[in-house]
Amino acid sequence: MTPAKIRRMNKEGILYIVATPIGNLEDITFRAVRVLKEADIIAAEDTRHTQKLLNHYGIKTPVTSYFEHNKAAKGDFLAGRLKEGKDVALVSDAGTPGISDPGHDLIKGAIEAGIRVVPIPGPSAAITALSVSGLPSDIFAFEGFLPAKEKARNERLETLRGEQRTLIFYESPQRLLSTLKDIRDIIGDRNIAVLRELTKIHEEAVRGRVSDILEALKNRAIKGEVVIILEGFQGKEFKGSIIDELEMAVKSGLERGYRGSG
Ligand code: SAM
Repeated sequence: MTPAKIRRMNKEGILYIVATPIGNLEDITFRAVRVLKEADIIAAEDTRHTQKLLNHYGIKTPVTSYFEHNKAAKGDFLAGRLKEGKDVALVSDAGTPGISDPGHDLIKGAIEAGIRVVPIPGPSAAITALSVSGLPSDIFAFEGFLPAKEKARNERLETLRGEQRTLIFYESPQRLLSTLKDIRDIIGDRNIAVLRELTKIHEEAVRGRVSDILEALKNRAIKGEVVIILEGFQGKEFKGSIIDELEMAVKSGLERGYRGSG
């Protein structure tokens, strides 16, 4: 159904959640380009950044900012426009809005106000990275960014030691090496993939054990954007006390459906 047809059924506008490229400008759907052209307003995390994409596709729709520090006031403004029947297209700097990006509050508020929220799917760095990681992708958990403070970060990693699902982390290039060391020391020397600058000129995939990757990257300046894909707990390499190990083995057995002989 076209946006115009959907609009005829609603007197209120529609909030479109539009995924945009994570690097290569060609990674956008025909539908996303059309919705961005036809919307009344584009709400963008960074208007200057989004303007480059809009210029590339000849999109002239007015753009307003919607980011972490103006989201309360701007959310009210956008809700007002939606109530008046205007269509709003939300975009972030890259990938899917709301995924480690602003959007959640606006989406939640729109749903509560009875406004229709329509996804325009496209790239997300998490799924893009997982798809080429070579690690199990049938069941996984998205962790987003680890906490920046060491204590909170280590505590988070501790809670993930027994996680059997493949784990996806976003990370800054400056913190990549220290995060890899923390993963090796707290979680273990597992299989991992580091995907850098996906869909861009300097796209790179490094795969191996955490210690191999640390060795490979140790004397390099790491630049650009990075996703870490970490193998889940496989019942080995666990580094806790013997009691922790027993607990983990029992938990893992129960999760796999082992019920004992009785
Ligand atoms: N909403 C976005 C999405 O759906 O992917 C994520 C936004 S989050 C603020 C930005 C993080 O995503 C970066 O720090 C990096 O971890 C990851 N990322 C975004 N683009 C990337 C790319 N081209 N290559 C690797 N990682 C990327």
